[in-house]
Amino acid sequence: MRLYDTHRRILVTGGAGFLGSHLCERLLARGHEVLCADNFFTGTRRNVEHLLDNPRFELLRHDVTFPLYVEVDQVYNLACPASPVHYQHDAVQTTKTSVHGAINMLGLARRVHARILQASTSEVYGDPDVHPQREDYWGRVNPVGLRSCYDEGKRCAETLFFDYHRQHGVDIRVARIFNTYGPRMHPRDGRVVSNFIVQALRGEPITIYGDGMQTRSFCFVDDLVEGLHRFMEAEPGDPGPVNIGNPVEFTVRDLAQMVIRLTGSSSRLVNAPLPADDPMQRRPDVSRAARIFGWAPQVMLEDGLRRTIEYFDGLLAAGELPALQRMTRRAGSPASVSASGGVTVHAPFDA
Ligand code: NAD
Ligand code: UDP
Ligand code: UDP
Repeated sequence: MRLYDTHRRILVTGGAGFLGSHLCERLLARGHEVLCADNFFTGTRRNVEHLLDNPRFELLRHDVTFPLYVEVDQVYNLACPASPVHYQHDAVQTTKTSVHGAINMLGLARRVHARILQASTSEVYGDPDVHPQREDYWGRVNPVGLRSCYDEGKRCAETLFFDYHRQHGVDIRVARIFNTYGPRMHPRDGRVVSNFIVQALRGEPITIYGDGMQTRSFCFVDDLVEGLHRFMEAEPGDPGPVNIGNPVEFTVRDLAQMVIRLTGSSSRLVNAPLPADDPMQRRPDVSRAARIFGWAPQVMLEDGLRRTIEYFDGLLAAGELPALQRMTRRAGSPASVSASGGVTVHAPFDA
C-alpha cells in the first residue's frame, strides 16, 4: 500500500534482455517506477545501462526460479531465454524458469494483489496445422523434442496463469508473442534476423536452414512493446490469451534477399540442415488484440530491418560484432556454435 504516489511500481522480470530492456524504457517514459529483475543468463547490464541513472529505475540480479518478495502494482513476466540456441543450452533450466518462475511470480502477484502479464509465445502452437493461428487453436507440440523445454514450459506457465486466475482471482494477462526483432537482439542468439544481418554485414554466407520456404511473421520491437503495454492497461480486463505479432508473412528466403538488398552485401546464400521440429508456417491472427485493446502493428519489415541493421552496423564499427560463427542446431545435441568445421563450443552468451 502507498499513501501518496500515483504512478505505478512495476516489476519486469527478464528486464535486461532484448524485449525487457525496451519495455523498461517505455514504462519509465510513462513516469512509472521500474524494478528490473534478471539473472543475466542472456540479458546484460549493458542493455539497461542508459537507464541506471534514472532514480525511478532499479536493477536487481535475481533468478525467478527462487522466491522474490517485493511490493509492486504490476508484473511483466518476461524472464526466459527465447532463442532456440539459448533455451536448448540448458533445457532443464529453461523449463524450471518457465514453470517455477511462473509459480513464484504468480505467488507474488497473489500476495500483493498485482496485475501480472505473462510473455507467452507462438511456440505454444508448435508446428501448426491451422493457419493463420488464432488463440482458440490448441496447437501441435512435440512433448519430447528439442524445442519442448521451451514450448511445454510456456504452455504449463499459461495453465498456471489461468488456474491462479480461476482459483485465486489473480488479475492475469497472457500475451502470445510471435517472432520479434530489433535493436539489442543478441548478435549471437542464432535467430534468423540477427544471423542474417550479422552474416550480411560481415560479407559471409547467409545460412538458410532447409529450403528456406518455411515462413515466419516478423514484428518490430516497438510495436510489440506497445502491444504488451496496451494489454496490461486495458480495462476491463480480459485475461487473453492474445496474440501479439505482425501478420505479414515472409519465407526465410524472402528475408535473406531483403537483408542482402538493404545491406548492399555481396554475401551468397548457402543451405544448412533444417533443425528438428522447426515449424513450417507461422502467422498470427491479431484480430483479438485489435478488438480488446485497439492494437495493430505499424512498422513494415523493411523499415524495421533498416533500424536493426543500423544497430548491428554500430556494433561492427565499434569492433563489437563477434567473429562470424555459424550457428547450428543438431538433432540429439544441445545447441552449439561451430566456429570452424567440426569444433563445437557451447556458447557463452556474453558477447
Ligand atoms: P532475451 O533472452 O533477450 O531475454 C530474456 C531475459 O530473461 C534475459 O535478460 C535473461 O537473462 C533473463 N532470464 C532468463 N532466465 C532467467 C531466470 N531464471 N531468472 C531471471 N531472469 C532470467 O529474450 P527476449 O527475446 O527479450 O524474450 C523475452 C520474453 O519474451 C521471453 O519470455 C520469451 O520467451 C518471450 N518471447 C520472445 C519472442 C521473440 O521473438 N523475441 C517471441 C516469443 C516470446
Ligand atoms: N512467492 C514469492 N513472492 C511472494 C509470494 C510468494 O516468490 O511475494 C512464491 C512462494 O515462494 C511460493 C510461490 O510463490 O512458493 C507460490 O505462492 P502461493 O502463495 O501461490 O503458494 P504457496 O506455495 O505459498 O502455498
Ligand atoms: N533460420 C535460418 N537460418 C538461420 C537461423 C534460422 O534459416 O541462420 C530459420 C529457422 O530454421 C526457422 C526460422 O529461420 O525456420 C526462424 O528461426 P528463429 O530461430 O529466428 O525463430 P523460431 O524458429 O523460434 O521461430
